[in-house]
Amino acid sequence: MKTLKNINIDNKRVIIRCDFNVPIKEGKIIDDTRIQRALPTINYCLDHNCKVILLSHLGRVKEEKDLEKNNLEPVAKRLSKLLKKDILFSEKTRGKELEAVCESLQSKDILLIQNTRYEDLDGKKESGNDQELAKYWASLGDVFINDAFGTIHRAHASNVGIANYLDSACGFLVEKELNALSILDNPPHPFIVILGGAKVSDKIGVIKNLVTKADKIIIGGAMAFTFLKAEGKNIGKSLLDEESIDFCKEILKTYKDKIILPIDFAVTNEYTNDEEYREKDIDSISDNEMGLDIGTKTLALFKENLTGASLVIWNGPLGVYEFDKYKKNTDNLLKYLVENDIKTILGGGDIVAAATNAKLSEKVYHASTGGGATLEYLEGKTLPGLEAIR
Ligand code: AMP
Repeated sequence: MKTLKNINIDNKRVIIRCDFNVPIKEGKIIDDTRIQRALPTINYCLDHNCKVILLSHLGRVKEEKDLEKNNLEPVAKRLSKLLKKDILFSEKTRGKELEAVCESLQSKDILLIQNTRYEDLDGKKESGNDQELAKYWASLGDVFINDAFGTIHRAHASNVGIANYLDSACGFLVEKELNALSILDNPPHPFIVILGGAKVSDKIGVIKNLVTKADKIIIGGAMAFTFLKAEGKNIGKSLLDEESIDFCKEILKTYKDKIILPIDFAVTNEYTNDEEYREKDIDSISDNEMGLDIGTKTLALFKENLTGASLVIWNGPLGVYEFDKYKKNTDNLLKYLVENDIKTILGGGDIVAAATNAKLSEKVYHASTGGGATLEYLEGKTLPGLEAIR
């Protein structure tokens, strides 16, 4: 894979596709982690005297009223604060004014162009990878760097189309993600997968791809209930993904020895953080109860199965981690992995959020930043953003 360090960018106009899809409320950025993650690549380009042009999407733009709330200007302001330098901002995604600004850029200038998805209002030009648009954006620069790992699984004009027209490479964030995740192509053993979260149907591709590579798959979260139901257990009112029962039966039949399921749960009668919970073995859950976290015995069982692991990949929390009462065992298992120095990759999304809340995301081997992108990597799919650079 061509990376930033093996492409000549000195003094050039470099277009960097970033992932600035940050949460914004009433014009204020609530969490700027994604902007911070783009800084190493931007700084490297500044050090090489580049004229930097930044592209990013923000939210979804389907109709006129989506424009204002998805205006990228607050990102320009935050970036300016973080880099301690002025950032130029173009209100428009194309046109004479934008072209003139690009022409007049001096080395070490930075221009952020308006949300690429503003182009979706006119026939989904960005999301549909319109080649005329891709070619136009490419005409504004000399070199293209894709550093938006979060959208690497999408084929859009600003990340895939544009790479058809310029010498291209991936940025440091994408490189870091790939270096960490590529260990899965040839994992050291014992290799253990932990899966949690809500629905089996969202993870069918991941299970199919990893079940053959892994020595064990530990299943928690609401997902476990669909597997337990497939085994004929009474799961009460716990979350069930009815349409995936047959898939679970098939997996359990073929890979019985690899699948580790919970044996007890923290149960309650309502989906709330307010009621007291009790711990119950799987065989004694009654019809009006639901499991919202794994229980103490299951935690011990999971730890036992993880002892001596050479590599662990974990996607999805083991319980309703958004509720204080039910995040406990996700946190406990994370702590166990960290304390025992077990090489662990957190596979994006909710498990990274849970680890960040528990102040553990910095302590694991790698916490992947992509939600859908990481999941597709785990499914073994090819990623269009990378293919375009290749
Ligand atoms: P996912 O996006 O598939 O990783 O799912 C994450 C979601 O699964 C979180 O919002 C959790 O609250 C939810 N979840 C995990 N365990 C349970 C459970 N036992 N019952 C209901 N929801 C759960």
